[in-house]
Amino acid sequence: MTRNIALVAGLILLVACSSDDSPTAAADGIDRLEPPFWWTGFEHTELQLLVKGDDLAEYTPSVAAPGISVSRVERGDSPNYLFVYLDIAAASPGEFDIVFEKDGERVARTYELRAREAGRVGTYDSSDVMYLITPDRFANGDPANDNVEDYDDRLDREDDYGRHGGDIEGMRQHLDYIADMGFTQIWVNPVLENAMQKSSYHGYATTDFYKVDPRFGSNESYRAFVDEARDKGIGIIKDLIVNHAGSEHWWMDDLPTTTWLNVPDTRSRSTHARTTNQDPYASEYDKAGHADGWFADTMPDLNQRDPLFADYLIQNAIWWTEYAGLSGIRQDTYPYPDKHFMTEWTRRIMQEYPDFNMVGEEWSPSPNVTSYWQRGKQNPDGYVSYLPGVFDFPLQIALHKVLTDDEPPWGSIWTPVYELLGHDYLYPEPMNLVIMPDNHDMSRIFTQVDEDENLWRIAMVFYATMRGIPQLYYGTEIQMSHPGTDSHGAIREEFPGGWDDHDSNAFTGEGLSDQESAAQEFTRKLLNWRKQKDVIHNGKLMQFTPLGNVYAYFRYDDDETVMVVFNLDDDEIDLDLARFAERLQGATQAHDVLGDTAVELGDTLELAPRSALLLEISH
Ligand code: CA
Repeated sequence: MTRNIALVAGLILLVACSSDDSPTAAADGIDRLEPPFWWTGFEHTELQLLVKGDDLAEYTPSVAAPGISVSRVERGDSPNYLFVYLDIAAASPGEFDIVFEKDGERVARTYELRAREAGRVGTYDSSDVMYLITPDRFANGDPANDNVEDYDDRLDREDDYGRHGGDIEGMRQHLDYIADMGFTQIWVNPVLENAMQKSSYHGYATTDFYKVDPRFGSNESYRAFVDEARDKGIGIIKDLIVNHAGSEHWWMDDLPTTTWLNVPDTRSRSTHARTTNQDPYASEYDKAGHADGWFADTMPDLNQRDPLFADYLIQNAIWWTEYAGLSGIRQDTYPYPDKHFMTEWTRRIMQEYPDFNMVGEEWSPSPNVTSYWQRGKQNPDGYVSYLPGVFDFPLQIALHKVLTDDEPPWGSIWTPVYELLGHDYLYPEPMNLVIMPDNHDMSRIFTQVDEDENLWRIAMVFYATMRGIPQLYYGTEIQMSHPGTDSHGAIREEFPGGWDDHDSNAFTGEGLSDQESAAQEFTRKLLNWRKQKDVIHNGKLMQFTPLGNVYAYFRYDDDETVMVVFNLDDDEIDLDLARFAERLQGATQAHDVLGDTAVELGDTLELAPRSALLLEISH
C-alpha cells in the first residue's frame, strides 16, 4: 500500500495553467504561481516566479526548455514558498514545464511566455484630459456581480462606505459619453481584489495583486475595457499601490519572509511626516516612523527593501501594463514606500516603456517637495527618480485659496497662484504635471466654492487652459456636490444614470436640472475646444502680475495666442490692455471662445463681474 502511494506520487503530474488570465489554485499541490504568465522581448530578461505550495521550499525546480534556464532559486522563511528566477533572454514565446523535484517526487507546472503585442501600451501627455472614476460609484453595468459568494462586504447602497455595485462593465457602457465630453484618458481608481470585511469599495486594500475584484469584473473584462477604450480614443491609467496591501491579503496567514512587512508586530501607524524624505535634519527614527508605519490598521505596510518583494512589485506593475495595454500608471501614496525602491520601480518600468507616463501622489502644498520626485530633478541629496510626473497639489491648494479666501494676501487675491507658478523652475517638466480642481480624496470643486456658479466656471477654465494635464473627477462636469460633509463616502456619490433607479441620467441628460445641463455643456464645449488646441497642449505660458482681483495669462506659440483673463471682482472692470502688448502685439480682434462672439481689442477690455474670459487672439 505504502509502495503504491509512492508510485502514484512518483508520476509526473502535468497540470496546465487554467485558461483564464488570473492565478488560480490547482490540484497539483501548487497553490500560487505568480505572475500567471509573462512575455518575451523585455529589456530585463530575468523573471521571478513566486511559487507557493505545501513544503514547496524542499523541492528543487528545473526547466528543460530551449532558451530558458533557472538562474537562481531563493527560499524565504516560510517552508511553503519558492522564488524561482528564470533567465529568459533567449526564450521564444510558448509553453514549457517547470518541474519541482524532491526525493524522486516530481510535480510539473506548465508556464507560458507570450509574445508582446506592439501598439497596445500607450501613453498620455498634455494634449490629454483625464476623467477620474471611482468604479463602484460610477455605473452599475452588471447587477449580477453586485454580490459574489465568499466576499463578505455585500452590496449596501444606503451606506456611504458600502459597496454600491458599480463595475468595469458600467464604465465600458459609457465610454462614448466620456469621449463625447472631451476626455481622452480615464484614471480608474483601483480595481484589484479587496476581499475585506467592509469599506472595500474604494479598492485601496489589495488582497490579490494579480486579480481584478470579481465585483468589478475580471482580468479579461478589464483588458477588454482597455482595448475598447483605446478604440474610442481613450487611454486607461491604472491606480497602483506598492506602499500597502489589505489585511485580508492571501499571504497574511503565511508570509514568504520575515521581512515581507514593516513592523508586523506593533503595526504602528505611519506618522505621515512625509517631509522626512527631503528634510536634511530628519532623524532615521522619524524617517522610519513615516515610511515604515502602517497607513491604516487594515493596510499592512509592505517592506520594499525585501529584495524578493521588490522584484514582485516591479513585475506586477509591468505585468498589468503589458497585459491590459495601459496608457499610464497613477501611483498612490508616493512618499510612503521606501524611496530608493521607488527609484528602481520607476527605472524598471520606464526602461521597458520609454514613452510611457506615470504620475505620483505627493499631497504637499510645496513645489519644493513635489518636484523632488520628478524625473530629471537634480536633488541636493542626490536622490534620483524616473517618475515622469506628479500631481500638482500645490496649484490645487493655491487656486482653492484664491477662490475661497476671505482675507486676500497683500498684492492681489490671485497672488498665491501667480507666485506658485513662478516656482515652476523647480520642475524639470512642468507640462507633465497633472492639474486638478478635485479628486476622490477631497471636497468636490463645486462644494469647495460653496456652490458658486461663477467660481466653478473660473476653476474649470483655469484647469482647461493652464500648463499641465487636467484631471477632473467624475461628476464635476455636472457640479456634483456634498454640502455639509467631507465624508469620503459622500464625495464618492453615485453618478446620475449609473443605476436604474436614479431619477436623472447624466449620460442622456434626462432629468438633469437646467443648471446641471448647463454645467455639462460648458464642460463639453471647453474640453472639446481644448482637445484641438495645440497651443494649449504644447504652447508656452506667460503670466502677468495680477492687479487687484484680475489675473491674466497667455498660452502661445508661433501660430496661435490664447489670452485667459479672470475677474474676481463683484463689479465690471475695464482692463487696460497696454501692459499686455508683449503678447497682444497690436492685435485688434479676438474670438471669445465661451461666448462664441467676436471681441474688439481697444485700449481696454470689458470684464464681466466674477468671470472667466477665454480669447483666441487674431494676429
Ligand atoms: Ca455590479
